[in-house]
Amino acid sequence: VPGDHISHYDLNKLTFSSNALEKKEKVLILTPMAQFHQEYWDNLLKLTYPRTLIELGFIVPKTTDGDETLKQLEQAVKDVQSPKKKVPKFSKVTILRQDSEAVESQEEKDRHAFSAQKKRRSQMATARNSLLFTTLGPFTSWVLWLDADIVETAPTLIQDMTKHDKAVLAANCWQRYYDEEKKEDSRRPYDYNNWVESDEGLRLASQLDDDKIIVEGYSDMATFRPLMAHFYDPNGDQSVEMKLDGVGGTCLMVKSEVHRDGAMFPNFPFYHLIETEGFAKMAKRLGYEVYGLPNYLVYHLNE
Ligand code: GDP
Ligand code: MN
Repeated sequence: VPGDHISHYDLNKLTFSSNALEKKEKVLILTPMAQFHQEYWDNLLKLTYPRTLIELGFIVPKTTDGDETLKQLEQAVKDVQSPKKKVPKFSKVTILRQDSEAVESQEEKDRHAFSAQKKRRSQMATARNSLLFTTLGPFTSWVLWLDADIVETAPTLIQDMTKHDKAVLAANCWQRYYDEEKKEDSRRPYDYNNWVESDEGLRLASQLDDDKIIVEGYSDMATFRPLMAHFYDPNGDQSVEMKLDGVGGTCLMVKSEVHRDGAMFPNFPFYHLIETEGFAKMAKRLGYEVYGLPNYLVYHLNE
């Protein structure tokens, strides 16, 4: 009844199915954004899932760089959402200014230094949680985590990923680059956070103090975990699935019930894991299965 100030949502009627499009399931795309990249925005606008079924959420750090990012993002959003523009509009766009500490240096080499990981990843976790808990609605069926530097995906990304009907599903994130030696365009694995647990990983974890974490992809701490990035087969079927124990957040499709049940991004060591890797562990502890698509590539910007 209008005017009674009571909203009813029957979560039993909310679906997250392999027929997302036919069932008009709503997708919330969440992007923590330190820097605005036009290529990310252009790719986002190419997605063919109806914008009326898509909400966007961004969180921008409260730094000087963040000021510039915010300006660029707001302009890009206005260009699409302005009532004057005759283009389909996203159902809602939320832009948050981060209140927690932001990652200090966005330089590639600083960001990826092993010593910087615990602090950086825990700051990222806090930012992701802030974004998630302020934007997840009672009608959200899916949450697509998409980093601000994912510059190329299939336009059918949302249909392709929801089709698998998985609680948590990671795409395989690679990067295009120019091979100076071979003098040709090439591509290489980028996101090493999509992995399968190994005996060595478990053994390492069992020897660590409570406050210590393992971050994947560093020779400083060799886990010998099978990494999904290395399982890409260019001749293989794009819909091949593999079970995972850790995930990255570059391009990750999550059924909203997983987050609603309480799976978030621990900014503290959770089974010696944090952020997205800790999220995969938490989803599993809640009883969900975590998968990846080794032959389904999305591309990270080359800085
Ligand atoms: P990498 O690709 O693993 O090196 O991780 P990135 O540095 O690209 O960070 C992942 C995502 O978080 C990207 O979308 C960044 O723009 C964003 N990001 C990085 N640092 C911060 C931060 O301090 N605050 C917010 N809100 N977003 C950030
Ligand atoms: Mn990145």
